[in-house]
Formats: sequence, structure tokens, C-alpha cells
Amino acid sequence: MAEFTMELNDEQKEVRDWLHGFAADVIRPAAAEWDEREETPWPVIQEAAKVGIYSLDFYAQQYFDPTGLGIPMAMEELFWGDAGIALSIVGTGLAAVGVLANGTEEQIGTWIPQMYGDAGDVKVAAFCSSEPDAGSDVASMRTRAVYDEAKDEWVLNGTKTWATNGGIANVHVVVAVVDAELGSKGHASFIVPPNTPGLSQGQKFKKHGIRASHTAEVVLEDVRVPGSCLLGGKEKLDERLARARERAKAGGERVKNAAMATFEASRPAVGAMAVGTARAAYEVALDYARTREQFGRPIIDNQGVAFQLADMRTSIDAARLLVWRASWMAVNGKPFTAAEGSMSKLFASETAKKVTAQAIQILGGNGYTREYPVERMHRDAAIYTIFEGTSEVQRLVIARTLSGMPIR
Ligand SMILES: Cc1cc2nc3c(=O)[nH]c(=O)nc-3n(C[C@H](O)[C@H](O)[C@H](O)COP(=O)(O)OP(=O)(O)OC[C@H]3O[C@@H](n4cnc5c(N)ncnc54)[C@H](O)[C@@H]3O)c2cc1C
Repeated sequence: MAEFTMELNDEQKEVRDWLHGFAADVIRPAAAEWDEREETPWPVIQEAAKVGIYSLDFYAQQYFDPTGLGIPMAMEELFWGDAGIALSIVGTGLAAVGVLANGTEEQIGTWIPQMYGDAGDVKVAAFCSSEPDAGSDVASMRTRAVYDEAKDEWVLNGTKTWATNGGIANVHVVVAVVDAELGSKGHASFIVPPNTPGLSQGQKFKKHGIRASHTAEVVLEDVRVPGSCLLGGKEKLDERLARARERAKAGGERVKNAAMATFEASRPAVGAMAVGTARAAYEVALDYARTREQFGRPIIDNQGVAFQLADMRTSIDAARLLVWRASWMAVNGKPFTAAEGSMSKLFASETAKKVTAQAIQILGGNGYTREYPVERMHRDAAIYTIFEGTSEVQRLVIARTLSGMPIR
């Protein structure tokens, strides 16, 4: 187990500087264009693939970093560049983690390379869990997966929504209900291979922010996938369902606890994205406040402006500390007894929303125009309090740990 540290080691600093260079030289200059186009920035993803940022190797290296700081450091730098483009780059990683965490070695080896493609022909992947009637309330999911034993195939039917890269992905990871009695413990994840008949893109959403990231519905109509596409395999699923049924009989709460607790480990990564956006807006505001003169002096010479910057910087640093603590806990298997993962995501996402709004204020009229990036950053920041569990859901989870109520 690695001791918790707030100091990046030399190797991490090197990676951080390399990522920062890519974010500053490639991502940031492209941000406004892809925001306006509202399209997946394929050329930027390709550039990231060429230098090795868009790859499983890179993602896995950060994911398994025992200090826990690899992923938050990488997320912060890429999202500092631009949130929409960065999400297009890391969105595949979120689907890949689903396979890394639950898949067999064979599934990992077969599907993850197809999620990324290669630098000459990049591909993306999508993770499809949310549904029109199952957002915060994941347990009310309706998409069904039924096993056809004669053919050793699973048949998937349902509609997924809000899927990042949904419909344009080479590989879709779809969460579906295999036993409706067990709530979220009766869910299983499936790979839908490229060009599988029955999977189609529904509506593509026109969004408020992160507009370079593709978000769409995914419709599944009698989608047949081989038995080998059930993540983890049938034997493991059957064992897991049998255990869940026994626990449900003994008293349902433990079943729900286990399901909710798994999100704690992934939430700090979203917190780190929010820290990146907040830091980007803060830096623009600080530069502006130092150079913009009114009443014969830089506006930062007014306490009213300088104190805002002081508050912005303080909350960004506080958010980063919560994110790093939770990431370290996740990698080192520490129990999230006070929902520290949710705390980090809640605080960092609310900070990003607030700090980006303050940045607009400091830039005055310029802050309100698309000539400057802070209005885009403010639109982008609004996503962090919504996806991967809304702020209300984070509070619910934290409050339940405090009051001794079960997390569900
Ligand atoms: C751009 C974008 C990308 C996304 N990417 C993905 C993806 O790749 N894959 C995926 O599966 N999903 C994805 N999502 C879905 C996302 O995780 C959901 O939008 C989120 O979980 C919220 O669900 P909902 O939108 O249905 O809101 P709802 O659950 O309907 O919530 C609406 C409001 O009610 C509040 N609320 C709900 N229940 C409670 C409660 N018990 N107590 C207090 N308040 C409550 C919520 O906090 C919120 O303010 C994405 C969403 C967006 C917008």
C-alpha cells in the first residue's frame, strides 16, 4: 500500500508536464472550433493517439498507479485544455474500465484494442447505463438481457440515453437487467461488438456545454451477442446472482449497499475533471485581473476582485485535496466510510460551477463573449454536477453514511 502523499514523484511530474504541453498546444487551441461545430474532434483524438495519450497503455498506467494520483493528475491536465475535447479523449477509457474491472483476461485482450483502434484509424467506445426512466435511480433500469441457451446468445432490448459516444462507438458496453427482482444487483454488463445488427443511434443531443463530446440515445432491438460477450462470463454471473438472492432473502439492504458503494471509486476522476476546468478559468481570470486597468490601476488592485480570486484559488486547492485523498483510498482499497469519493465529486463539481461563474464576472463584458474562453468553461462546468451522479445524489450518499443509514 502506498502512503498518502500530496507530492507528485519525478516520473509523475514528467507525465504531468507532457500532458500539460499537449493540452496547451493541441487541445486548447482547438477548443472553440469544436465547441461551435458540436462534433467529435476526430483529428485531435488522432493526435492524442499518435503521441500515446489516447491508448489503453497510457490509461492503464495511470489507473494502476499505486499512489492513486495518476488518474486525477491526467484528468486535471486534459480537462484544463478543454472539457469537451478531453471527454472525447477519455470517454473510451470509461468504457474500457468497465471491461478491465469486470471482464475476463480474454475479454480484455479482445475488446479493449477494438475500443481504441490505432493511430491510423482511431475508434471510440461507449458505456451505456442511463435510460430515459433510469437516471439517478439506476435500479429502475428496463433494458433486458435474456439468455438463449440453445444458441449461447444473449438478446438485448431497450433504450439507453445520454451515452457518451453512443452510436458512433466501435464497441458499446451495455448494462442490462438479467434478474429484475434483484434491483441493481440483477444487472450485468455486455459487450456489443462492432456492426452488430439491432443497435442504432437514436437522438443526438444538442447540449449546453462539452459540445465537442458526442452524447446520444442508443436503441437496442433484438440485439444478439454471443455468450462470450457477457462481462466476467456466465458462471461468475450465476454465482453472483445466487449470492444476491440469498442476501436479498436475509434482508435486502446489503444488496443495495454493495451496488452503490462501487461508484465511490470512480467519482474522484470526475472531480479531477472539474478541478481542471476550474483551474483553467481561474488562470484566465487571474491574468485578466492583472492586466485590465480601470480607474487608472489593474482591477486586481481592488480587494473586491482580489478576494474573489483568493476564494477561487482556495476552493480549487481544497477540491484537489479531496480528489487526491479519495483516489488514493480507491487504489489502496480503503473503505469509503464517509463517502469520501462522493465528497470529492460534490465539492469539486460545485467549485467548478462557481469558479467559472466568478471568472466571467472578473472578465466583465469580455467574459460574456465567445472571444474569451470562460463562458465556454462555465457552460462545460455545469455537467460535473450532473453526470456520474448528480450533486443531490452525492449529498444523499454522504448523508446516509453520516446518519448510519444504508447507502442506496
Ligand atoms: C453530457 C452527458 C453525458 C453523459 N454520459 C453518460 C454515459 O456515457 N453513460 C451513461 O450511462 N450515462 C451518461 N450520462 C447520464 C447521467 O449520468 C445522468 O444524466 C445522471 O445520472 C442524472 O440522471 P437524469 O438525467 O435522469 O436526472 P434525474 O435522475 O431525473 O434527476 C433530475 C433531478 O432530480 C434530482 N433527484 C433525483 N433523485 C433525487 C433524490 N432521491 N433526492 C434528491 N434529488 C433527486 C437530481 O439530482 C436532479 O437534480 C450523461 C449525461 C449527460 C448530460
